[in-house]
Amino acid sequence: MKSDRSSGFPVLLTFDLDAELLWTSRDPKNWNRPVALSQGAYGHREGAPRILNLLAKHGLRCTFFIPGMIIERNRELVKDIHAAGHEIAHHSYSHRWLESLTLQEEREEFEKTINLIANVTGRNPFGYRSPGAEFSPHTMDLLLEYGFLYSSNFFDRDAPYKHIVNGKKTELIEFPFAWVLDDAPFFLYSIQLVGRMIGRPSRITLLDRLIRYIRSHKNVWITRCDEVALALKDTL
Ligand SMILES: [Zn+2]
Repeated sequence: MKSDRSSGFPVLLTFDLDAELLWTSRDPKNWNRPVALSQGAYGHREGAPRILNLLAKHGLRCTFFIPGMIIERNRELVKDIHAAGHEIAHHSYSHRWLESLTLQEEREEFEKTINLIANVTGRNPFGYRSPGAEFSPHTMDLLLEYGFLYSSNFFDRDAPYKHIVNGKKTELIEFPFAWVLDDAPFFLYSIQLVGRMIGRPSRITLLDRLIRYIRSHKNVWITRCDEVALALKDTL
């Protein structure tokens, strides 16, 4: 796998493929509402293939955060994402909000999706992004227990750092996040989230333009989160 890590400032374009689960995780009755579900299906039927084409056109490898249930339901698509050189990272199993789960349920969500990703990629996922942008009181312990290399959840810094838990620095790297860097606040109220939002024909043009703009600068490295985490882990 080619890596151009010497060539500059890391830029991480990440894609969350929540698809139907944004509706069903809030209300399981939505599994019986085909039209509501079809809004989510746009993400994997139209949005994801369009995003993959764009990334291929630019020769980029990026990170896709995917819930386990979406992997089960779209195995061929997830295999294609992996085969194109992108990273498959953990985004829960059912996309239910973590605060609503018991410790046992949260553990099951972690394990099922770790196994599903390992089944497609041949290794456990390195990265984790929580559904609903929040942790339960157990999430940090579970991330450490399952040996994740990085988390992409917190909003508190500009640059990557290692988490401190109970006063001790851990090996868990955080790639901090900001709503201003997310497409959800810009499009969520008119359409929906990532695969569904940026995968629309008009919006994929914006992503294309953004990639061109980033690449117009020398010294940038657009890549997968795991590659940056591996490059940084001994320096933080
Ligand atoms: Zn999500």
